[in-house]
Amino acid sequence: MTSQHKSFGVREQADKYTEFVSRGFGKDLAKRLGLPQPAILRRYSPQAPLVEGPILVVGAGAGADAVATVLLGWHQDVRRHATPKEKLGAIVVVLDELEHPTGLSAPMLAVGSALRDLNRNARVVSISRQATTDDEPGIAAARAGVDGIIRSVAKELRAGATANGVVLANGIAADSPSVMSALRFFLSGRSAFVDGQFLTASSEGSTEAPDWEAPLKGSVAVVTGAARGIGAAIARTLARDGATVIAVDVPAAGDHLAAVANQIHGTALQLDITHPQAGERILEHAIQRYGRLDIVVHNAGITRDKLLANMDAARWDSVIAVNIDSQLRMNKAFLASEHFTQNPRIVSVASTSGIAGNRGQSNYAASKAGVMGMVRSTAPLLAARGGTVNAVAPGFIETDMTAKIPFATREVARRLNSLQQGGKPSDVAETIAFFASPNAAGVSANILRVCGQNLVGQ
Ligand code: NAD
Repeated sequence: MTSQHKSFGVREQADKYTEFVSRGFGKDLAKRLGLPQPAILRRYSPQAPLVEGPILVVGAGAGADAVATVLLGWHQDVRRHATPKEKLGAIVVVLDELEHPTGLSAPMLAVGSALRDLNRNARVVSISRQATTDDEPGIAAARAGVDGIIRSVAKELRAGATANGVVLANGIAADSPSVMSALRFFLSGRSAFVDGQFLTASSEGSTEAPDWEAPLKGSVAVVTGAARGIGAAIARTLARDGATVIAVDVPAAGDHLAAVANQIHGTALQLDITHPQAGERILEHAIQRYGRLDIVVHNAGITRDKLLANMDAARWDSVIAVNIDSQLRMNKAFLASEHFTQNPRIVSVASTSGIAGNRGQSNYAASKAGVMGMVRSTAPLLAARGGTVNAVAPGFIETDMTAKIPFATREVARRLNSLQQGGKPSDVAETIAFFASPNAAGVSANILRVCGQNLVGQ
């Protein structure tokens, strides 16, 4: 990859340090000095294999057998027992029948003994059940234990490998379609910058045969803030996956917006999302042009940072207006429309600042934590019409926004995660495309961090 990759209006800033320490003199030097050596991550391409190497499925129960059968159906090279010294592309550990923390020992030691045989950019994925307050304490302890395991393993893995988990709500089978689509996301290069995270499958999902290559074929999507950065990457990724995209941004960004829309054969809609009728304007555009609206991606967002002690009303109010108030108002319009009723999808862009907080960002964190609250309480409204709503919470992503951070602060911020690098706009976009797909029908009310397991807190 070149150091600056320009396509479809997306400028993905390359991390020069990562390139430098990946080969030749730079690699030797970093090794000798004990400097961080971030891996070049395996990212999704439709032609690439799902994983690079055999998949070891660990687990003695019927759930593990069923998952292995699905993987075989995807033409993967599946092992039920490790062969000494054989290199692996992934380990899937199925823990759906846990009854006590002592039951973690056998499967996790089996995983541990295979970890040294993982290829670069490999995957470890657990499938386990949700711990609830209704569980018998021993069962709840075992289920909650998986959380600690995966987050720790993610911190132990090297060379671009990640560990994540799929959590089953009660009554959901380990091999149900929504679980398998989440597993596939975690195994693939789509989840390159997702590490130490969990997706919860709350229902079985769609039984229709999935189209893994063009999952969004025939659907119409709107992406706000699509003129540049993460929004442009989302528009490009949804279009690649088969959607027709309406790209929305403020009139001042009109030229860039038109360029993005033209490149992906979509349409541009110049609109300030804080306009009181923004939702209605989007619906009108979608229905007039395409007769439908299936996917809404709330990406547009702004920062107006100041310590709370120095905060003024203009900074506070503008961040709330763009980042959360507009989404609440637009969702009301979408939910009131008869055209947003066929398995609709809403995906919002939050931020790890809304989870861990960030100095100087009390207004921004209020808006982004607000997005997460909105997503959780909107989920039942969408479920009533067969739809889902989820959010992604990006960490440090290499965009024009983060390029403005002073060098030393930026360098520290981008290394402070398990993958020791910043993510790319496409990493956020791939996660959004997953949530938007029919394959993720049983996955709702999730907040998924795309942050390389950022170490900033919580
Ligand atoms: P960006 O500033 O590069 O792009 C944001 C886009 O939104 C711009 O094109 C802008 O014109 C548009 N926009 C702003 N206000 C608008 C309005 N009122 N109406 C319509 N469009 C509007 O930002 P980005 O880095 O691409 O961030 C995209 C989203 O990701 C934001 O919600 C941001 O908070 C979030 N995010 C970014 C990062 C990061 O590291 N870059 C991290 C966490 C979250």
